[in-house]
Amino acid sequence: MAEHRRARRSALTAIVAVAALGVLSGLAAAALGDTQAPATTASAVPVVTVTAEPANDPITAPSVEPSITTAEVEVSPSFDLDARSIDDPSSAWVVVNKHRPLDPATWAPPELERIPGGSEMTPEAAAALITMRDAAADAGAGFSIGTAYRSHGFQAGLYADYVAQWGRERADTFSARAGHSEHQTGLAADVYQSSACRLKPCFGEEPAGVWISEHGHEYGFITRYPDGLADVTGYRYEPWHVRYVGVDLATHMHDEGIATLEELFGLEPAPTYQ
Ligand SMILES: [Zn+2]
Repeated sequence: MAEHRRARRSALTAIVAVAALGVLSGLAAAALGDTQAPATTASAVPVVTVTAEPANDPITAPSVEPSITTAEVEVSPSFDLDARSIDDPSSAWVVVNKHRPLDPATWAPPELERIPGGSEMTPEAAAALITMRDAAADAGAGFSIGTAYRSHGFQAGLYADYVAQWGRERADTFSARAGHSEHQTGLAADVYQSSACRLKPCFGEEPAGVWISEHGHEYGFITRYPDGLADVTGYRYEPWHVRYVGVDLATHMHDEGIATLEELFGLEPAPTYQ
């Protein structure tokens, strides 16, 4: 996100600087008189390299002369965060949390594919998960797949059972209310290595958990509920819960060190239901 904004700001500043240069050269020409004006920059537009710091903006700090080079304006590569919808439940970028229910709440993916372990995912997520599972197995970090897609009705029953057993407040810390579960998107799956660490934080220390945290993005997956970020995501550390967002987005988050979809898209933290 920061990089994204920085790139935009950098591009804007560069445009402002070029415009300012035009004004400055016009003033210089006026001072010299038109007939004595030196060859203008019209035939070879100078390219200005500026930093993104406002203090160096020649508009606000006219005493600072922009350096003119023949290099092109350098703009850091940016990532288009508007490329896909975060609201449409059929989008691989959909953001679902305690403030953002699926719309409609009873939504179900139009197409689901059976995956090893007996659950289902959208075809794109299913293919990616199977590829990731095979790669992990080749690396000696094989894992099994537990639950992936859960329907609205199934989630409602599951949540009701947890509430009956633990109470609503406690249940909300580990189970989503129907319409608020990533599992309902068909893009998320719970995976495990040993049964001892199934659905437990210690999965993150098993070879499969370590491998997924290092390589998941290469297959389009993020760990949706990282350690220590329950105040943002609404859930405690769930290293076993992998969420498909596509390779581009997952890699962007990995490379930029962005831990949550909320941070990435500038969404409000969603620790509890509103
Ligand atoms: Zn899960």
